[in-house]
Amino acid sequence: MPVLSGRCHCGNLRFEFETRHTPETLPLRTCQCSFCRSHGALAATDPQGRVVITAGDPEALQRYRFGLGITDFLLCARCGVYLAAVAEIEGRCYASLNANALERRAELRQEPQPISYDGESAEQRRARRAQVWTPAEVITGAH
Ligand SMILES: [Zn+2]
Repeated sequence: MPVLSGRCHCGNLRFEFETRHTPETLPLRTCQCSFCRSHGALAATDPQGRVVITAGDPEALQRYRFGLGITDFLLCARCGVYLAAVAEIEGRCYASLNANALERRAELRQEPQPISYDGESAEQRRARRAQVWTPAEVITGAH
């Protein structure tokens, strides 16, 4: 599968996203929660893909939790970029990427679909993510 690369502004956090999509066909969502709205995040996932997220300096990988507390929002503590959200579901890691961090973000074409997940229980949220999010691995101290 082709690989789409992404990184935070300073390059400390990176991802390599294996997906059947190109930037032109990648479905995009704008989550309406206050966190995603304040970051202007564009969510992208591919349940048939795979992503490896790496942090060169683990000290500068900031994990932020709010709400149900079942998601780690990964931010770079150096440059402030929000890179991805990750969650562990039944022992497996899944991610939703911020497509604005893609190196090829200028090629994104899909109209983002606004979605609100308010009112979901933790169980509903895990079940949805296990279907829709991208199987992921987070590696620290990698580059
Ligand atoms: Zn950074």
